[in-house]
Amino acid sequence: MCGVFGIFDHPEAANLTYLGLHALQHRGQESAGVVSNDGGTLHGVRAMGHVRKIFTREVLAQLPGRIAIGHVRYTTAGGSLVKNVQPLSAQYRGRSIAVAHNGNLVDEDVLREELEAQGAIFATMSDTEVVLQLMARSGRAAVVDQLIDALGRIRGAYSLVFTTEDKLIAVRDPHGFRPLVLGRLRSESGAWVVASETCAFDLIEADFVRDVAPGEILVIDAAGPRSVMVPPAPRRFCVFEHVYFARPDSVLDGVSVYEARIAMGEQLASEHPADADMVVPVPDSGVVAAMGFARRSGIAFELGLIRNHYVGRTFIEPMDSIRHFGVRLKLNAVPKLLAGKRVVIVDDSIVRGTTARKIVRLVRNAGAREVHVRISSPPVDGPCHYGIDTPTRAELVASGQTVGAIAAAIEADSLGYLSPDGLRAAVRQTPGFSYCDACFTGEYPVQPTRPVGRRQLRLVEV
Ligand code: AMP
Repeated sequence: MCGVFGIFDHPEAANLTYLGLHALQHRGQESAGVVSNDGGTLHGVRAMGHVRKIFTREVLAQLPGRIAIGHVRYTTAGGSLVKNVQPLSAQYRGRSIAVAHNGNLVDEDVLREELEAQGAIFATMSDTEVVLQLMARSGRAAVVDQLIDALGRIRGAYSLVFTTEDKLIAVRDPHGFRPLVLGRLRSESGAWVVASETCAFDLIEADFVRDVAPGEILVIDAAGPRSVMVPPAPRRFCVFEHVYFARPDSVLDGVSVYEARIAMGEQLASEHPADADMVVPVPDSGVVAAMGFARRSGIAFELGLIRNHYVGRTFIEPMDSIRHFGVRLKLNAVPKLLAGKRVVIVDDSIVRGTTARKIVRLVRNAGAREVHVRISSPPVDGPCHYGIDTPTRAELVASGQTVGAIAAAIEADSLGYLSPDGLRAAVRQTPGFSYCDACFTGEYPVQPTRPVGRRQLRLVEV
């Protein structure tokens, strides 16, 4: 759960990276960093907190150069410490390099042990550093060859953006788990940009050029962009990006997140109709799907839950104490609207089930006569190994439970989840383009060498 951004050849590279990260802030609110490249000298600022807090005018002035990369982060591996904040920078054999990573490597611990046994010293607990260590160990001279050697060793999910002395390099893993897009500034500079989502391009007035292809190493330097492809693998773009994670104004691998969410809601209304007076979204995560539900069912769409925008996304805070506070800090019900009514609440997903139960109680306490919950994705019953922060199976309310038991756990009068096939139809899955839906189906495209629990537990204590 991270966002990455990169820009090649612009006099205000760091400023534009800051704007790009601002548009990607929803992908991680724990920390942010920018590394600029001033003719081979790297300058970096990394800190805990939100983009707009960290990058003041004075801070941005410390980041000269025409190439820059940036990162927003929520911890999926490596623990919540400032030393793990990306982009990571390194020097080896006279070369300066920095990298920002979205995703999660499934064999990080095995590779780290192997490298440590060979004498490698790690400065961070981040899986991304393994990539740099592997590059430094490649016997080859050209950075792209070193990268090819490193990619040959790693498995899992990665969208990576590098800067070397004179290049911006964007890489997407062979399955294409996480998004990565290429764009170009509309202004005279015509600078090349890469980002996790297209919404970053809209803010900086860049045109979307294309998705970085799964398995592509896209090298941008003074000669322009060129590509090297690593051997392909079946496409497995993360369906949870469409369900929850990405912004609805983004288009990912050719599919509009907004349209996909509308279709999820419509499909959900067909699969699990409800006899009710109004459809109420859980803001913001359930809003678009709820519109689809209302449209298909003909039931009125009402904003019966009001969100306080001055708290972060509840789930995204890593400390349990804060998450449990979350719902009350963030949402309030409108009793005038809800009193005596049969209400359908629509949200994108149920993970631990704590949010859904609190929302059901909130709506009931506001006077609703019946509370029916509809979820625009299937039950989450497996953890993600590819970069979405889902908890261990034991913490997932759907794991080993029937829908009836989950409905009882969240205290709803009825509960309906979108079917896996309904979700696939909504995101326009075709035989040639399958999504990764392991968290819903248990079909993991890349198995970790060792069984994993919640990987960061081993690492957080440092
Ligand atoms: P809970 O069931 O209490 O764990 O929370 C589920 C809520 O968190 C849903 O409304 C989602 O919008 C949101 N959510 C689902 N998955 C994630 C995730 N990996 N990170 C942050 N929020 C999430």
